[in-house]
Amino acid sequence: MKVMLSYCPLCHRKYQTEDIYLIGKRENVELFYLSCANCGKANLSYSVNLYDSVTSISLTTDLSYQDATRLEKLDPINLVTELNSENASFKGNNSLYKEVLDNFGKLT
Ligand SMILES: [Zn+2]
Repeated sequence: MKVMLSYCPLCHRKYQTEDIYLIGKRENVELFYLSCANCGKANLSYSVNLYDSVTSISLTTDLSYQDATRLEKLDPINLVTELNSENASFKGNNSLYKEVLDNFGKLT
């Protein structure tokens, strides 16, 4: 698969091969870390290959390459499960998590 983000969305510099790192791959999804040598910003780009077509979702990040690779290796979490967990580290102070869930329309 190939990264679909060719230009830095912030300064429009064309990415070079040495700017692009494949940091994760699962079945039909690849995660790339793209670092811009011009503006110093980074982007994460997911490329998804389904039914012979490829789509990409990218976001600008302040994660370093090392942080992005570490984050990619973590197991996914479910905020609703975490919110109801007895072992939740935020027990008794869950206003931030409720706000996040409210913003995504998960609470009524
Ligand atoms: Zn840039």
